[in-house]
Amino acid sequence: MTDRIELRGVRAFGRHGVYDFERAEGQEFVADIVLHLDLAPAGRSDDVGDTVHYGELAEKVTAIIAGDPVDLIETLAGRIADAALGYDLVERVVVTVHKPQAPITVPFGDVAVVVDRSAHHPAVVALGSNLGDRRASLASAVAAIARLDGVALVAVSPVIESAALTLEGVDPNLPTYLNQVVTLTTSRTPLGLLAALQQIELDHGRIRDRRWGDRTLDLDIVSFDGLERQDEKLTLPHPGAASRSFVLVPWSIADPDAVLPGHGRVADLAEPMRHEVRVEGGR
Ligand code: ATP
Ligand code: CA
Ligand code: CA
Repeated sequence: MTDRIELRGVRAFGRHGVYDFERAEGQEFVADIVLHLDLAPAGRSDDVGDTVHYGELAEKVTAIIAGDPVDLIETLAGRIADAALGYDLVERVVVTVHKPQAPITVPFGDVAVVVDRSAHHPAVVALGSNLGDRRASLASAVAAIARLDGVALVAVSPVIESAALTLEGVDPNLPTYLNQVVTLTTSRTPLGLLAALQQIELDHGRIRDRRWGDRTLDLDIVSFDGLERQDEKLTLPHPGAASRSFVLVPWSIADPDAVLPGHGRVADLAEPMRHEVRVEGGR
């Protein structure tokens, strides 16, 4: 991601520092904020709702500088970074806090600290395949997810096998499905993660024809940082997650403490469905 918003030289009066006179008299602090986010959607829509409103962010930054005094500009920079990461679209932020009147006993030009922070959204991805070399597709998809920029794998479930589900119900004549679930953390936005997963599907020969049709690889976002959203591109959590044994059983193995917002503990949801799937290498 090379798109950025750069907001520099935001200045405000604050009372940060370790000395009593710094608290009593105060001084000026200056912040530079560099946001890393995808600006293409705003470039297409020309809508401020698709980007970060930098005027609004600048006001938050001055409020933080003028607010609650702290000893260290490291702390101040961390607070400003947290405010910037509070915007869902921001994947990474670099904050520089300057203290040009810092109590230093020799002549100096400037002193600043720089913090570089990325978003860490927990997310869960369900993989499925019932065409071709299913096992190889799953293994190579897990590897491809692990290689994505801004994605770190946390846990990988065992592979499980289940009968094919079509819009008409379970069809024992179709090739069975192999499914797997991975948990991860990502600095990407939900749509940024979805786009990357769809590219991995295409790289594995996925052809989109009919819904729930046979496929070499299907990658669904099951949940993303507790987010709830619904539109034609992305529904979170995935609407099928709560009722699908082939998602719940492997998910509960990958993360025994997982919770599906609105439905409860994944392990409890999975328990009555365990018999519907076969866990490879499992009991
Ligand atoms: P299901 O979503 O019921 O498992 P499917 O996986 O067969 O069905 P696809 O044809 O793979 O459906 O996807 C159709 C569209 O669903 C995708 O183009 C995508 O934009 C959208 N979609 C909505 N929510 C999600 C989600 N949570 N994860 C992945 N795709 C989603
Ligand atoms: Ca699916
Ligand atoms: Ca899908």
